[in-house]
Amino acid sequence: MSQGTLTLSTGFEGGSALPVSVSGETLRIRLRADAAGRDMNWFYFRISGAAGRELRVVIENASDLSRLAGRDEVPDCWTGYRPFVSANRRDWTRCDADYADGVFTIKTPAVADTVWVAYYPPFPMDRHDAMIAAAVSDGRCRLERLGVTPQGRDLDLLRIGTPGPGKPKVWIMGRQHPSETMAGFFVEGLLARLLDPSDALGRALCDALDIFVVPTVNPDGCAMGNTRLNARGMNLNRAWDGTDPETAPEVAMILTRMRAEGVDFCLDAHGDEELPYVFLGGPLEIPSRSSRLDTLFNDFGQALERSCPAYSMDDPYPGGAPETADLRMAWNAIAEEFDCLSILLEMPFKDTHRDSDPEMGWSPARSADLGRSMLDAIDAVRRRLR
Ligand SMILES: [Zn+2]
Repeated sequence: MSQGTLTLSTGFEGGSALPVSVSGETLRIRLRADAAGRDMNWFYFRISGAAGRELRVVIENASDLSRLAGRDEVPDCWTGYRPFVSANRRDWTRCDADYADGVFTIKTPAVADTVWVAYYPPFPMDRHDAMIAAAVSDGRCRLERLGVTPQGRDLDLLRIGTPGPGKPKVWIMGRQHPSETMAGFFVEGLLARLLDPSDALGRALCDALDIFVVPTVNPDGCAMGNTRLNARGMNLNRAWDGTDPETAPEVAMILTRMRAEGVDFCLDAHGDEELPYVFLGGPLEIPSRSSRLDTLFNDFGQALERSCPAYSMDDPYPGGAPETADLRMAWNAIAEEFDCLSILLEMPFKDTHRDSDPEMGWSPARSADLGRSMLDAIDAVRRRLR
């Protein structure tokens, strides 16, 4: 049987890539920017007609990405990074790739006639819905809708535990940035342990805390296959200062609820494309920083070191602490407004240099495991949050 032409498709939820050309076993593509800027790490596409081929996918504009400040000493996102491939969209493995002269080339034998290739294993909205359903089937958890997004999706809030005098208000958020799907797996792991009736710590935290979980802050961006922006072209993690309900309605809805309920602790889960380690950002540069928050952050980090071998406080926020906090970012804005321990969590797309996994790198399974481990760190500080 002669081989036909390879067909590349992105016509499904979360799909993203701009096809350029097909020649033999080589597909050339460009990354699609979310909007006018250079937020465009994310790719997720399907190739059909691939059986028996040694596929090459050339990303022509890989070097056009924006980079964060303070990263001059850090390898870029492509160096040392390996993409994911799947024959069924359920089981994902890393494949080979190289980066030279500004061009990133994915190299994989076709594992089936139709294969999916992604920057990181997707966490589709159907999986978000399944996570919500699993959580609310537990009598200790109930679902509230904070509101509706510009494209008509629910902005879901899970409430766990019951309010009571002196009970800390604990907020967990994920996926302000759609491409950082490890945050979805992280929240899934955290919720699974929290609501596991056989887990003593999960039970204790459900009793002791008043917990608010927003697993998917940016559902429109997730469905659109965006890298960072929402449907109105806004990077939500640059919208927490005097939020604009027009461009960042998701943030406005969450902040309104936070102001009504209070915040004693907040954890905001993200992924970092460049760095080979898990790291935390704490409330150390905000205008109202205090020794109380310094101590809490330090104790939280030490507890996470004990519960998660991949995390070390020796792996700091890159480029050193800024002189002043960016109060457009959730973790800083929340710490400043609520005078509480507010933490940015970053997980790698590549691998961790501690406790590394040469085959899978930092995987969905390890993201979920970090979610479970995070409960130990919350437990270590929960009695002193106020
Ligand atoms: Zn992020």
